[in-house]
Order: sequence, then C-alpha cells, then structure tokens
Amino acid sequence: MKTYEDLANIIFPDIDETIEDLEKKYPPRNCKGEVTRFAPSPTGFLHTGSLFTSLVSKKVAESSDGVFYLRLEDTDQKREVVGAKETLVSGLKTFGVTPDEGFDIPHEHGEYGPYLQSNRRNIYRIVLKELVKRGDVYPCFCSSDDLNKLREFQERNKMVPGYYGEFAKCRNLTVDEAISRIENGEPYVLRFKSHGDHENKIECEDLIRGRISISENDLDVVVLKSDGLPTYHFAHVVDDHFMRTTIVIRGEEWISSLPLHVEMFKRLNFPLVKYAHLPLIMKMDNGKKRKFSKRKDPEANVSYFLENGYPPVSLIVYLMTIVNSNFEEWLVGRNVLDFNEFKFSFSKMSLDGALFDLKKLDYYSKEVIASFDIDTLFNNVKKYAEQYDTDLNELINRDETYFKSILNIERDGPHPRKDYAKYKDIYPSIRFFYRDQYEEIVRDSGIAFNPKFEKTLIHEILLESTSLYSCLDETSWFEGLKEIASKHSFAKDTKTFKANPSDYLGHVGDVAEMLRITFTGSRRSPNLYQTLHILGEDEMNSRIAFIASTLLK
Ligand code: GLU
Repeated sequence: MKTYEDLANIIFPDIDETIEDLEKKYPPRNCKGEVTRFAPSPTGFLHTGSLFTSLVSKKVAESSDGVFYLRLEDTDQKREVVGAKETLVSGLKTFGVTPDEGFDIPHEHGEYGPYLQSNRRNIYRIVLKELVKRGDVYPCFCSSDDLNKLREFQERNKMVPGYYGEFAKCRNLTVDEAISRIENGEPYVLRFKSHGDHENKIECEDLIRGRISISENDLDVVVLKSDGLPTYHFAHVVDDHFMRTTIVIRGEEWISSLPLHVEMFKRLNFPLVKYAHLPLIMKMDNGKKRKFSKRKDPEANVSYFLENGYPPVSLIVYLMTIVNSNFEEWLVGRNVLDFNEFKFSFSKMSLDGALFDLKKLDYYSKEVIASFDIDTLFNNVKKYAEQYDTDLNELINRDETYFKSILNIERDGPHPRKDYAKYKDIYPSIRFFYRDQYEEIVRDSGIAFNPKFEKTLIHEILLESTSLYSCLDETSWFEGLKEIASKHSFAKDTKTFKANPSDYLGHVGDVAEMLRITFTGSRRSPNLYQTLHILGEDEMNSRIAFIASTLLK
C-alpha cells in the first residue's frame, strides 16, 4: 500500500527542500516596526481604491519604522493585462507611495523575494509537498463538467454550493487510486482538506473592526491549479508568512475568506498574521451609495486625476481625510504639504465605506496648488501641459517667463490665491493674456458691458484710465480709479453707494468691471492691477483702443 509520502514524491519528484529550509532562508525580520504590503494583481490600471489601500499600508509601516513592500500577484495569468505591472509600479511612484522593497522595474529589491508570485512556484511547491505528505492536501480529478453538475445539483436542492464534505469526492480516494490516476496522465488540481464545520463559528481579530465572529470554513478549496500556479488563498498564506508580513491590510471583500486563511495558517503551524480589512470607497449615484465601479466611474482609475491636472499630492491629501477621521483637524493651522508628518492610527479609521467627494478633493487641491512655490508650480504645470494639454503647452512655449509671471499673480503674501483646483483650470482662465486668444474670446463671446451705462460714458472712462498705468503701486492705482469713478458720478465705494443709491450712477466696482471686461473679455479675472502690469502699457492701450472703437460704432 502506497503512502502520502509516495504520493508527494510522485507529484513533486524534483522537490527536496522543506518548510524548515524556507524558514531558514527567510528568517524573521530584524525590524521592530510593522511589515505591510501592497499586493495588487496586474489586471489593469491602478484603481483609486488600491491607491487608498497602499497608502494605508505605507502609513502603517512608516508610522512604526517598519517596512512596506510591493508584491505582484500574477497567479491568475488569464486575467493579466500587458503593461499592467509597469502601470502599477509607476503609479505608486507618481503618487509618492513608494515601497521600501519588493517588485520594481527593471529589478526588484529586497531579501524576501521573489516578489512576483509566478517566480515563487518552487516555494509553493515545497510547502505543498509537505502538505501532501501530511495528508492535508490531495489531488482532485474532477473535471469542470463534474463541478458544474455538482453545482446544479446543490442549487436544485437548495444546498450550500461548493466542494466540501460528502460532495468532495476526491478527498476519499485512496492513495493508490490517486497515484494510478496521476500515472495514467489524468489532469488534476490540488485541494486543501478542510477540517472545518460550517455550523461552528470562529472569532477573529480585525485591527479596524475588532472581534469578528464568522462561520468556519469547510470548503476544500483549490490550492494549486492545473497550470501549476497557486490560488490567491494559498499564495497569501505562504507569501505573507515567508515575507514576514505582520499586518495584512486589504479590502473588506476578503473578510469572507478569513476563516479559510485562518485555518491554513493553523494547519501550517504558521503564527497568524494580523489583519485589517479596509472599508470600500463608495460613490453617490442617484441618491444611493454604491461601490466605485471600474466601468462606470472614470475617477476609479488614478490616471483620471493626472489627466485632469490634479497634483498627485492633492489626491493623497484627500485620501488621508478618508484614512483617518482626525486628519483634517490635525491639518488645521499646518501647511497642507506637511501631510506626511501625520501619524496614522487604526482606531481613527471609519468602518463605513467612505464616500468619494470630488468637492473636498478640489478644496484640498486648491490648498496644495497655493502652497507650491512658483518654480515647483511652473515645472508641474509645464509637465502636465506637455503630456495632457496641448493648448496650454503652446502658450507656455511662446514665452516661459511671461507665462510664469501670469502664474505668479497674487501668490506672494500671506493669502495666496486659491482658484486652481487642477492644472486643467489654468488655460481657460489665462488665455486672455495672449493677444490672439484675447481677440478670439472677444469675437466668440462679444463684449458684454452692463447695459445700464451709456456707451459714450464707458468710452470716456476707458480712455481716462490709461493715465493710471504709471501709478507706483496697487493702492495708488485704485485711488486713481476712485477719482475717475467719482468724476463720472460713481460712488467711491459700495457702502457710500448703498447709503444713497439715487445720488450715483453706480460705484467704483462698476468702473473696475468696465476695465476688466475691456482687458480680459470677461467679468472674472485675476487681480486687475497685476494683470495690467503683465500685459504692459502698450498692450493695455491697444486693448482700450480696440474696444473703444467698437463702442462708438
Ligand atoms: N491580489 C489581491 C487583490 O488584488 C490582494 C489582496 C490582498 O491584499 O491580500 O485583491
């Protein structure tokens, strides 16, 4: 009669190493802090929810002087998308969630690799060989047709679906039978022989949710597929043990698999890792909360934020507001760019799926953009424009110094301007600085002065305002403007106007608006004084003449 050992040798004839050897090769780390990881599958783009998970994992490691590493989970090779590995690696770097070790391009780095699961086949096979020897893992020869029939039968009889107990046909094959079927060349997978009972509950600790009570696993899940690669469940247990992860931080969709993972850790005699299951990021849709959808929501892909010109830091700061409920309060009175000094804590993590709030992202992004020094801002905008905004890029390339001075309007001083949430907002609001663009704006939208005022009056005011250019500073410029206003029966300020509206044609704001419309083609613009000085005296006079000529037609 053949033994489990014979079976193991037939399945893994080339494997001599043991779990003990692996323990020596990947010893416990010399590190006091937490070891966390981000373990994406290379099946597409970097999802905003995954960026959130990796951010939390990085913060946990960083806050405890630990290690954060990247492991690529490519065992489902049918789902793998070409280029996805590169996208994930570069996405993390772009958003500053850079791993301390792990998978990288061109070379991974770290002592606990390989960090690409398909390169870890031998490690899985070593562990599996021992499990076969112990009778904890067995070959299953059921075809997909057999499994479909089983499912249909269970559905018809309203039974819990799956390969378990009496339905797990191959768990009762004798070793001799199994060996002869293998020797006959029958295809098979390896399954884990569960000892669990669905009627029993187990208690698990989750660092965010506390104690979770959940039914034991009783499924004999596949651990090695017919393509020779492990399934997620088995690879998770083996890798997180031998890479010496201390906290597995992953999405809450994995909670239901927890009993299986706990059972595997126990049966392998590996100390159980700590778990933290993160809430999902949600979205409001027609008044209802729902999961972020890869297909429906462009913002589920982090590239959405880059294409729209959000600085990567803005998204990270925004995600931090979801990560810990005390982050925003902590940030008050600090520079937003110091966000990295915040110390993460699991207890301040909310359990409700966080609602993704673009308005809040915009708010923080304005803060971020306002906090950049002008050179950083200029370089960021230039890079963005080169990649995503040809119109803006064309303007920048005409004269970088001129563009920089436009970008720098109202940025000095204690209250820098905060009107850009993303670089995409820049082009429409500054194109009037360029003469051809200005004429296009005037041509396309027309000049819409307040019809309350006579055209001849506007004409006169515009011509008089040319004298103000030489004013030495903004205060004297504005004083001059008030004088012109007053001369033409406009109140010097709104308060005076409001006290006796019938005494005036309007107030100084109405006069400023005439100039604004003349110089920019719009009622809204950056600071008028600074705008004028960037345009220069000749251009100012030329725009006045251009508009004035249309007024008297
Ligand atoms: N590859 C799994 C996923 O992308 C990882 C889950 C985990 O972090 O353990 O969902």
